[in-house]
Amino acid sequence: MCLLGLYYSVLSGISDEDRCVAELLTFEASISQISAGLFYLSRKTPEIRPINTFSAEAPHSAGIMGRKSSSLVVTLAVLFGAMTAICVTLIVLMFTKTTHTDPEPTAPPQNQPYLVGVGRADCTGPAADVPLMGYANTQQKAAGIHTRLYSRAFIIDDGSRRVVFVTADVGMISQRVRLEVLQALQQKYGDVYRQDNVVLSGTHTHCGPGGYFQYTLFMISSGGFIKTSIQPLVDGIVKSINRAHQNMRPGRIYRNRGELDHSSINRSPHSYLNNPEDERLRYKDNTDNQVLVLKFTDLDGDGIGMLSWFAVHAVSMNYTNRLVSSDNMGYASYLLEQDKNPGELPGQGSFVAAFSSSNLGDVSPNTRGPVCMNTGLPCDYLNSSCPVGGTKMCAAFGPGDDMFESTRIIGQNIYRKAKELYATAVDEVTGSVQSAHQWVNMTDVSVQINDTHTVRTCKPALGHSFAAGTTDGGGDLNFTQGAVEGDPFWDGIVGVLLGKPSNETKECHHPKPILFNTGEMNTPLPWHPQVVDVQILSIGSVAVVAVPGEMTTMSGRRLREAVKQELESDGAFRDTEVVIAGLSNVYTHYITTYEEYQVQRYEGASTIYGPHTLSAYLQKYRGLARAIAQNQVSELPVGPEPPFFMESLVSLLPAAPVDRKPANTSFGEVLQQVYPIYRQGDVVSVTFVAGNPRHSGDIRDKTFVTVEILDNRTETWEVVHTDASWETRFHWLKGSNQQSNATIQWFIPPSAPSGSYRIRHFGHYKALKGLRPIISPYEGSSDVFRVASSFYY
Ligand SMILES: [Zn+2]
Repeated sequence: MCLLGLYYSVLSGISDEDRCVAELLTFEASISQISAGLFYLSRKTPEIRPINTFSAEAPHSAGIMGRKSSSLVVTLAVLFGAMTAICVTLIVLMFTKTTHTDPEPTAPPQNQPYLVGVGRADCTGPAADVPLMGYANTQQKAAGIHTRLYSRAFIIDDGSRRVVFVTADVGMISQRVRLEVLQALQQKYGDVYRQDNVVLSGTHTHCGPGGYFQYTLFMISSGGFIKTSIQPLVDGIVKSINRAHQNMRPGRIYRNRGELDHSSINRSPHSYLNNPEDERLRYKDNTDNQVLVLKFTDLDGDGIGMLSWFAVHAVSMNYTNRLVSSDNMGYASYLLEQDKNPGELPGQGSFVAAFSSSNLGDVSPNTRGPVCMNTGLPCDYLNSSCPVGGTKMCAAFGPGDDMFESTRIIGQNIYRKAKELYATAVDEVTGSVQSAHQWVNMTDVSVQINDTHTVRTCKPALGHSFAAGTTDGGGDLNFTQGAVEGDPFWDGIVGVLLGKPSNETKECHHPKPILFNTGEMNTPLPWHPQVVDVQILSIGSVAVVAVPGEMTTMSGRRLREAVKQELESDGAFRDTEVVIAGLSNVYTHYITTYEEYQVQRYEGASTIYGPHTLSAYLQKYRGLARAIAQNQVSELPVGPEPPFFMESLVSLLPAAPVDRKPANTSFGEVLQQVYPIYRQGDVVSVTFVAGNPRHSGDIRDKTFVTVEILDNRTETWEVVHTDASWETRFHWLKGSNQQSNATIQWFIPPSAPSGSYRIRHFGHYKALKGLRPIISPYEGSSDVFRVASSFYY
C-alpha cells in the first residue's frame, strides 16, 4: 500500500507519508468499527438482532431477544472470542507491514543539501564580418543575428569543495578562452575557482563568431585572433559564473535519464561498423540516444535550473547560414527557459536551462541523411561523394524542409525530452563533490596496451579526409572521406608551402595520409596544441568527464565505461552516472576509436594525436577517476602548463570602414516599409539604412531589434521581442560603396495578440569628422501596423 503511495507520489507530487497515513487511517477505522461492534455484541448479546445491529431501534428489540435460548449466548461468546483473535492478528499484521514498508512514517530522511548557484549571461560577439566558427569556411561570415549566444554556469558546493560547470553557445572552448577566463576568476575570487574545479564546455553551434584561438590553424580559419570577438566571450562566461556565485543557496540536485529517438543519426556508419562486432552488439543504436538531466531546486523544492547532456552536432543550421545562431541546442535552452521564466524576454529570468554537448563526434542532427543534391540519389557509402559534384554535392538535411525548420524540430525534440525528465526526476544526487584535473602533453603519451606492446601518441597532424569535410558540410576542394592514400598534387602544394612531415610523424599516424603536418609547424605560433586538459568533476554519484574535443559514439562509450569502472572499483562509488561533456577546455578536433581511425573518414583524419589517441585518454581519465575514488586527487601531478602567447597573435580582420548612406537618407530611415496589416503566421519585413554592426562594439545585453505592441490603455509601447527571440531575424546586408542595410523579419507567432505593432532597429554608424572617425548611435522605426486574426475588422 505504501509502495503504491510512493509510486503515486513520484507521479503526482503528493507526499508518500500523507498517502500512507491516509491508508492506515482507513484500515484502522474499519478495524475499530468491527471491534466496537463486537464489544457491543458481547454485552448486549440477548438484545441483538441478526441484522441492523447498530440501528437506533435495537433497544426496543432487547426484551424479545432476551427470552431466546441461552445456547445462543454461548455460541456468540465463542464467536466473539474467535473474532477478537482475528482482529488482534489483523492489527498486528497491519502494524508489521506498515513498519516494514515505511520505517519512519513521520518524516523521510533528509540528505545534506548542497550549495547551488545558477547563472546565465549574454556572450554574443560581433554580428558582422567575423567568420563563423565551425565549418572552417572563411567565406561564411557573420551578417546578423538569428538567436543570441549565452553562457550558462552551475556551481555546486558540498560545504568543503566546489565545482563549476559552464556550457556556452560556442563552437568549442579554446585554450585561450579558458586561460583568460581562469585569469579573470583568479583576479576576482583568488583561489576559489581554478583550472581543476572549473569546466568550460561548448554546445558546438557552428554559427558563433570565431577568432578566439591562439593556435595558427584555427586562426587561419577564423580570421586570426580577434580581440573584439574573444573579449565578449570571456566576459560573458565570467559574468555567468559571477551570477551563479552571487545566487548560491542551499539546494538539491536530482538526476534522471531517458532516451531520445529520431533526433540524431550516425554520419560515419562505415567507421562505426569497423568497431568489433561483439562490442557493437551490446548497443541498440550506432549513436547514443541518452539524455541525462540534472534538476536543481532550492530547499522548498522550487526549480532553479536544469543541466542536461545529449550527443548531437549543433549543425542543423548549415554552412549557407550567415546569422549568429545558437542552433538546436540553444533553441532547446530557449524553449525551456521561456517555459520556466514566464513573461520574461529571452535571456532574462532566473531559471537557467542548459543543454550541453557530449560524445557527438559522428552524430548528425540532419536525420534525413545524406543524398546527392543534384540527383536526389544516395551518396557513395564509403566516401560520401557524388558522381557529379563530388563531396560538396553530398549533404544531409532534415528533418525540416529548411535549416530553420530543422533547427526548430531537433531543438524542440531535445527540449521536450529534457522537460519530461526534469519533471519526473526524483533520484536525489547526494555525496561529496570532487574534481580532478591534469595538463597532459598529448604528443608524447605512451600506453601499455598488453603485456608485450606499448604504443604512443603522435605530434598532431590532419589527414586528407579532414579537407573533405562531412555530410553536414563538405569541403570545397576535391578531397573525399576515407582517404588512406595521399594525393601527389595536394601533398606537393602543401609540402612546398608548409613543409613535409618527418618519417617519424608519417609512421606514427599510419594509415592516415598527412595533409597538414601541424605538429611540426610552429610559425608564427604552433599550429595545434600540445598540452591539453583532462578533467573530471564528480557530484555525488554523477561524474562529468570533460573531454577536449569531439569523441565519437563508441569512443565516448569506452571512456564512460572505463571511468565508471575505476570509480566503482573500491566501492567508494556505486550506481554511478558518467557523462561526457564535449568540446571542453581546449579544442583538439576528434577522437575516434583505433578501429574507426583505420577507415580514415573525416573523424579519423581529424584525430590529431594519431591512432592511439583514445587509448591515451582512457589511461589518463582512468588515473583521474582512480584518484577521485581513492580521495587522492591532491597527489595527481599537475602536468605541463599550457602556453599563453603574448606575441604573434594577429587579427586578419581589417577595421570596419566608415558607413555611407544613400543620398537624402539618414541612418535608421526605412527603405522598405511594412504593410499596414498582417495575420498571425505571416512574416513582417522592414529594411533600414544601417551601419556596420561591428560599430556597436560590445553588444552583450543589448539588442539591434525590438518588436513592440501598443498598450491602448496607457498609450505606451511594450517590447515583446528582441534580436534574441526565435521569432525575429536581423539580417545585415553589406552593399557596395560602404553602404549597408538591415532587414528585420518578424515571424508572427500564432499566439501573438491582435493589436498595433511597430518594429524598431538600433545601431551605430562610423563617420569621419575631419580626419577623426566618430561612432554615433542611430535608431529607426517602422510604421505602425496591425496584427489581426482577420483582415476584416
Ligand atoms: Zn564537430
